[in-house]
Amino acid sequence: MAEVENALMGNGPIIKAKDVRVFYGEKQALQDVSIDFAKNQVTSLIGPSGCGKSTFLRCINRMNDLVDIARVEGEILIENHDIYAKDVDVVALRAHVGMVFQKPNPFPKSIYDNVAYGPRIHGTSQSKDELDHIVETSLKRAGLWNEVSDRLDQPGNGLSGGQQQRLCIARTIAIEPKVLLMDEPCSALDPIATAIVEELIDELSERFTIIIVTHSMQQAARVSQKTAFFHLGNLVEHGDTDQIFTNPKDERTENYITGRIG
Ligand code: ADP
Ligand code: MG
Repeated sequence: MAEVENALMGNGPIIKAKDVRVFYGEKQALQDVSIDFAKNQVTSLIGPSGCGKSTFLRCINRMNDLVDIARVEGEILIENHDIYAKDVDVVALRAHVGMVFQKPNPFPKSIYDNVAYGPRIHGTSQSKDELDHIVETSLKRAGLWNEVSDRLDQPGNGLSGGQQQRLCIARTIAIEPKVLLMDEPCSALDPIATAIVEELIDELSERFTIIIVTHSMQQAARVSQKTAFFHLGNLVEHGDTDQIFTNPKDERTENYITGRIG
C-alpha cells in the first residue's frame, strides 16, 4: 500500500539497482547489489576501503565503461529506464547523473567558462543572457556566487580547494541533473570547507537525489537520511541513517560503526 501511495505521490524510487555485479578482469568487486534510492534523498555509502563503494557509484552513470577491464552485470533503472540498454546515449545519461570527485578538478578555464561548459555543449542554453543566468544561478546554488561574482573571468583553479570543489558542484548542477553522485567530495578539504560543502549537500537535496561515498561516519550521520554499508563487495545493510548507526541489524555493520573493522 505504501508503495502505491509513494508512486502516486511521485516519491517512488528514482533509481533501482538489481543484482549489480562488477568484475575487474577475473576479480569480482561487487556481489549482487540490490538497492533503491528515493527521490531527493541523500544516501551515504560507507564501508572499509576497497569494499566497492566507488565501484558501485560508478555503475550509476556508467563511468565503469571507461575502465577497460571492468564488466558490469545486473540491472540499473533510473526513472524506470534501463541505463545499460543498448540504445542509451551515455553522454546524455551523464548529463542526468552528474558526478563530483574526490579531488576538485576544475577545467583550466575561467570560473564562468567552467560553469557554462555543460550548458554550452549540451545546447541547453542558446543566448548569452540565458547562459549568464545559468552561471549565476548555479554558482548561487553551490554557495559560491558571493565569493566569485566580481571575478568570473579569472581561472577556476586559482580558487581555494573548498571553492574549487563548490565550483565543480556548480559546473555539475548547471545542466540540471536528476542525480548527483559524490565520491568522497570532502576528503581533500579542510574542516571549514568541509562544513560548507556538507551544508550545501543538504540544500541541494531539495532539487537533486544525492548519493555520496564517505569514509567518515560522522559525515554520513550529518548529511544523509539513508545509509548503505558495504563490506568486501557486498551491500550488507541499508536503511535510515539513524537505524544504521544506533541499531544495526548485521554484526559486520556493528563492528564497522564501533570501529572494530575499518
Ligand atoms: P572503495 O571505493 O570502497 O574503496 P573500490 O570500489 O575503489 O572500493 O574498489 C573495490 C575493489 O575493486 C578493490 O579491490 C579495488 O582494488 C578493485 N578495483 C577498483 N578499481 C579497479 C580498477 N580500475 N582495476 C582493477 N581493480 C579495481
Ligand atoms: Mg572509493
